[in-house]
Amino acid sequence: MKLVLVGCPGAGKGTQAEKLSKHYGIAHISTGDLLRDQIARGTELGKKVSKIMEEGGLVSDEIVSSMLAERIKDEDCKNGYILDGYPRNLAQAEGLEAITGPLDKVICIDVDDNVIVDRMTGRRSCPNCKEMYHIKYNPPKVEGVCDDCGTKLVQRKDDNEETVLNRLKVYHETTAPLIEYYKGKGILATVKGVGDINEIFAEICRVLEG
Ligand SMILES: [Zn+2]
Repeated sequence: MKLVLVGCPGAGKGTQAEKLSKHYGIAHISTGDLLRDQIARGTELGKKVSKIMEEGGLVSDEIVSSMLAERIKDEDCKNGYILDGYPRNLAQAEGLEAITGPLDKVICIDVDDNVIVDRMTGRRSCPNCKEMYHIKYNPPKVEGVCDDCGTKLVQRKDDNEETVLNRLKVYHETTAPLIEYYKGKGILATVKGVGDINEIFAEICRVLEG
C-alpha cells in the first residue's frame, strides 16, 4: 500500500501517519526526518543539506527525490509506505510517481484555518525535557511551568498568529493544484481532521478499506 498524507501544518499528519504505519505494517516516511537523519549521520548528502539549511535555502526536489528513492528500497517498505509532508506541490507529485509508481490513495486531512491558528498559537514546550503543552487543550498544572521538571515553558518563534496565517496561505496556494491533480486521478480522499484522534484514524481506515 502506497499512501500520501496531505494536510496543512498542524493538521495532525504526523500523528495519523504513525498510527497508519503501525496498523497496516507499512513504513512511515517523513522527508523532514530523512533530511535530519542524513545530517545526524554526517553523510555527504547530509553535509550538503545542512549547508543549504544554514544559508536559509530550500533543499531541492532533486535531493529529496534521490533520498526517497533510496529510502523506499529499505526492508520495512516491502508492504508499502506512507509519505508524510511530501509532495507539497505539483512538480514534486509528478517527480514522486516516477519513483514510486502509481499511489493507492492520497488522504487529505482537512482542518479549518482558524482551528490551526488556535492549535499552533497555544502550543508551549519545555526547553529542558521537551514535554509539549497547549494552553487550552493540554495545560500544565501551574500556568507557564513544566509539570515534569518545573522549567518555565516557552513558545516557538514560529507559533505566532501572523506566521501561522502566512504558512497557511502558502500551503493553500501550493497544494491546491496538487489536490486537483490527485482528485483527477481518482485517488484523493478528504477526511475531516477535527475531533478525537482515534475517530479521525478510524475514518481514514474506512476510506482505505471501503
Ligand atoms: Zn520539563
